[in-house]
Amino acid sequence: MSVNPVREVRTTCPYCGVGCGVLVGVGPHAQVSVRGDPEHPANFGRLCSKGAALAETLDEDNRLLRPRIDGAQVPWEHALDHVAAQFNRIIEQQGPGAVAFYVSGQLLTEDYYVANKLIKGYIGTANIDTNSRLCMSSAVAGYKRAFGSDTVPCCYEDLERAKLIVLVGSNTAWCHPVLFQRIRKARELHPDMQVVVIDPRQTPSCDIADLHLPLAPGSDTDLFNGLLLYLHQHGETHEQFVAGCTQGVDQALAQARLSGADTATVAMRCGLDEQQVLEFYRLFARTERVVSVFSQGVNQSSYGTDKVNSVINCHLLTGRIGRPGMGPFSLTGQPNAMGGREVGGLANQLAAHMEIAEPSHRQRVQRFWGSPRIAEREGLKALDMFRAIEAGQVKAVWIMATNPAVSLPDSHRVRRALAACELVVVSDCIERTDTNQYAHVLLPAQSWGEKEGTVTNSERRISRQRAFLPALGEARPDWWIISQVAQRMGYKDAFNYRDSAEVWREHAALSGFENEGQRDFDISALAALSDSDYAGLQPVQWPLSSLDGGTQRLFGDGRFFTPERKARFIGVGTHRPANRVSTDFPLVLNTGRVRDHWHTMTRTGKSPRLSGHVVEPYAEIHPRDAAAAGIQAQDLVEVTSRWGRLIVRAQPSPAQRAGSLFIPMHWNQQFSSGPGVGCLVNPATDPVSGQPEFKHTPVKLSLYTPAWHGFVLSRRRLDLRHLRYWACARAEGLWRYEIAGDETPSDWNTQARQWLGGGGEKVEWMEYRDAAAGRYRAVRLLAGGLESCLFIGPQASLPARDWLVKMFNQSQIDDAERASLLSGKPAPGSKDAGRIVCACFGVGVNTLRDAIQSQGLRSAEEIGQCLKAGTNCGSCVPELKLLLKENQAAETVAGVPAGSGVAVS
Ligand code: SF4
Repeated sequence: MSVNPVREVRTTCPYCGVGCGVLVGVGPHAQVSVRGDPEHPANFGRLCSKGAALAETLDEDNRLLRPRIDGAQVPWEHALDHVAAQFNRIIEQQGPGAVAFYVSGQLLTEDYYVANKLIKGYIGTANIDTNSRLCMSSAVAGYKRAFGSDTVPCCYEDLERAKLIVLVGSNTAWCHPVLFQRIRKARELHPDMQVVVIDPRQTPSCDIADLHLPLAPGSDTDLFNGLLLYLHQHGETHEQFVAGCTQGVDQALAQARLSGADTATVAMRCGLDEQQVLEFYRLFARTERVVSVFSQGVNQSSYGTDKVNSVINCHLLTGRIGRPGMGPFSLTGQPNAMGGREVGGLANQLAAHMEIAEPSHRQRVQRFWGSPRIAEREGLKALDMFRAIEAGQVKAVWIMATNPAVSLPDSHRVRRALAACELVVVSDCIERTDTNQYAHVLLPAQSWGEKEGTVTNSERRISRQRAFLPALGEARPDWWIISQVAQRMGYKDAFNYRDSAEVWREHAALSGFENEGQRDFDISALAALSDSDYAGLQPVQWPLSSLDGGTQRLFGDGRFFTPERKARFIGVGTHRPANRVSTDFPLVLNTGRVRDHWHTMTRTGKSPRLSGHVVEPYAEIHPRDAAAAGIQAQDLVEVTSRWGRLIVRAQPSPAQRAGSLFIPMHWNQQFSSGPGVGCLVNPATDPVSGQPEFKHTPVKLSLYTPAWHGFVLSRRRLDLRHLRYWACARAEGLWRYEIAGDETPSDWNTQARQWLGGGGEKVEWMEYRDAAAGRYRAVRLLAGGLESCLFIGPQASLPARDWLVKMFNQSQIDDAERASLLSGKPAPGSKDAGRIVCACFGVGVNTLRDAIQSQGLRSAEEIGQCLKAGTNCGSCVPELKLLLKENQAAETVAGVPAGSGVAVS
């Protein structure tokens, strides 16, 4: 939308851990436009497709606007009294361990701080865990084991100053797109920069890779143990650093030797070519400035912490840490996963990076809070918390800003636990989610654009999120909701905050309380911010003990936060995933993100252009595995594990490693028939970090053959929940449904009218049927314009959808167009643009293929000049390059001279 802003507000993107600065323009009628903040040091004006579409996600649709108890709307006072009384009753009867909070990396730091203070300091239990347990708790545990503190040593600038970037278990191109853009740009400016991608899948991040190691799932510790030995044997040990600043090197080397880390064995275990492994080792050995970027592919494992330490060990051995362009760099998934770590929002942490297991830390935090008690031991981590709920040990759970019924592993069990729980309170800005259906109490929270506070990104940079719209309905800030309940529980003085600035000052003061350089997290210089200083706070990196702009990178002085002030090598053995493939479940399921959706799609699912990239849940399968199961592209397949089953669309692709398949994490029962991939995922966790193993679940695959396939386009949202398979996506002004069923209706006309709506004044109904071929089509027109249409056939290959979507823009459908509608083919002269590839400019895959072929386009830049695709956020550039490659391959087969511009049929 084009907006002439009357004011512009600086805030931060609410999606990933890059933490991009956003400038929001607000027009005279509260219309909103969004652009990247050129002054924010995370993105310098860039945004990815998700950030660029933020303005499309701010409407009232599906917002939770008023408090409810058992479905009935109630005043805030009533809801708050009820929650406080019920929590107090259960604590009195069962003890503090009978209640729990399950919170989120979507919360702002101030919200997180207050939740953690209430449960640990006043209720007296550490039963608070967060969805960040699912994304980065292995990184936390690995850093703490190595450095004695949860310290990310690097900053984004290191990605531009490195000579070698190792992306391990990180599809940066889709999951941290703006950092990927920064790396791509740095590589253009410094052609000697090398990029290695270590990932079982050939992801879009491979677009800039000099070397891709498609290692066997779960074999990372073998690869990095081998690297550690190789570096040691080839004289790359930084003797002075290792002797003066570290401990435990001999044990780590001995452990690596024990696990058989010679290169040939490593290559065999990792399923890699030995020469590829050697190439990586040589590259790492000869390059001083190396940054190893790791993310969920490393963390989400039953030995994720060891994987993290195996990477850190290589940096410690070579002394490549604490200096520009080098270090082990964890990228966090969520916008405020780091803020949650700072306030102690995990069951095994205290606030301000203090340890719950350390009595002096507990006493210090209690002294600072002046609280009546302090949790004495670690609380229940995410999966254990829901097991305890199922077992009836936890009677009340308060879920804040997250959707565990979708996002946790073994999600059927999580749903059973919530269904059995005596009291489920959910505070959220969204009304209909899979989790909310289990809530006894729903509390409306403010959304992005309404709330005030801070977030911390992956490079320890604290930025402000600022309100630019009035809160909808009766939505309130999370810190306020928690404080009001705390006051009603009897803790009035300790939770009497006036605004988020007051919470901030207390949080900052605690970080410096009795610190004296003993703890890494120190933002005490910000404890005295006035309200206006807080309002205008500029992005700043912690630690900072004076208002000097903060600290870019840590450990340059070789001093760490262990008692000896030395970093620790951690001996890491060979590991294999907790649940192994077998003849019953022969394939490995991997899960992750797609480019244009976020978490459970409550926000991105509102945007037509974000929804156009991938319209339904799918399984990417290696062609060999697909062929073995008799599966072709567009078939529906059933994926089964020991924990559940799910129907998704098949997408055979050589980018997938043979023996593995990939299903994205986003879809759930608000957008599809299935409960989401979490129902399949095994509940094994890392014994140190408690992080679940989302990257390795044994599964089997079979073709699902419904009685019929179909799709619906409709201006109204439809209820198709009775169908065996359905998935819906937003398109411009309408809903798009892909459907399939087990039973053929005796009369399609009756069925179609039930779904699409019956007749009436100004309604015209057209249909086509070929009972012998199993084809049926119906079109419903209202006042001459298209209202809805339904296409049914025996196969998944049905007419293209995108030209049909465009026809909904026309106020009148003429006779020729009516005929083309029923025939399922675009009218002469109109074309189907195909699935959206460039979300910023809405460029479809067919448009791109046509232009590449007919105009002989040879590069992403030429595509950009011709169609603008790829010229804004750049998130689609890897896909543009794949289309170019596909065309070149077709030309080679057809014997067309390169660049001739002759179309290949
Ligand atoms: Fe938001 Fe994209 Fe930046 Fe992540 S990379 S913070 S999703 S704009």
